[in-house]
Amino acid sequence: MDKIIMALFILAAGCTSLATTVQADEVSITATPVTDQIYMISGKGGNIGLFIGKDGTFLIDDQFAPLTEKIVKAIKSVGGDTPKFLINTHYHGDHTGGNENLGGSGTLIFSHDNVRESLSVGSFIETFKMKNAALSPAGLPVVTFSEDISFHLNGDNVHAVHVPHAHTNGDSFIHFKIANVIHAGDIFFNGFYPFIDVQHGGSLKGMIKATDKLLALADEKTKIIAGHGPLGNKVQLKSYRQMLGTAYARLSKLKNEGKTVEEAIAASPLADLEETWGDGLFKGERWIELVYAGVY
Ligand SMILES: [Zn+2]
Repeated sequence: MDKIIMALFILAAGCTSLATTVQADEVSITATPVTDQIYMISGKGGNIGLFIGKDGTFLIDDQFAPLTEKIVKAIKSVGGDTPKFLINTHYHGDHTGGNENLGGSGTLIFSHDNVRESLSVGSFIETFKMKNAALSPAGLPVVTFSEDISFHLNGDNVHAVHVPHAHTNGDSFIHFKIANVIHAGDIFFNGFYPFIDVQHGGSLKGMIKATDKLLALADEKTKIIAGHGPLGNKVQLKSYRQMLGTAYARLSKLKNEGKTVEEAIAASPLADLEETWGDGLFKGERWIELVYAGVY
């Protein structure tokens, strides 16, 4: 019996990973200028940050493996080269799928300690029934850090900062101090309810704290590359922070009253937020289902 269940499990995981297979010819890659040297590259999966200059090409995240060739082509089209450095904002496959290709062609990969750990053992994300196989050594970060790390290149000081228990257990955002640009990783979903990987150490409270850190670094001119959604700014980040705070206050109240997740959903605590935030990745009901366990 156990064997049958296991076989079904593997089958289900296999089917859904097929469903998320990325066909390179169906994806168009675009590079949006953020400054003279920084671009946001979009295709399928998390937004990529690109920083070009005389010291070499620096990349933040790399979407899916089948897209690497197209991504490198897009990088070259705006004056960059095969990345010298790559940093992963977190372990999710839509941000790290190109690691093996890039690492294998000489790119030096950086990440928080926990990202390397997750990538080296593989993962299964229940929410999307998504299985990520362990990466081969070529795809694993070579340099890891526990708190933060700084890069000094291409005329800027680039600070990668870990934020605990936010979207996952190993998120970092990247701050270009001179250019006044932030790549927020998946701390920021610009315009819709964010996925929070509670199963792997994420929490709503951590997302709020991380967002507050970003807000403290930003001014009205800061360009903010969201993990998902369009290129953003402080006004948009602020309204996202407000939404997270409102959701937290209401959900933690229900939790303190001892309500189960079903009872919390039935109480429709986010009804007034739905129109603005519920038309992206998740409807409010589904979002409550995802984050409730991580409300504490
Ligand atoms: Zn993610």
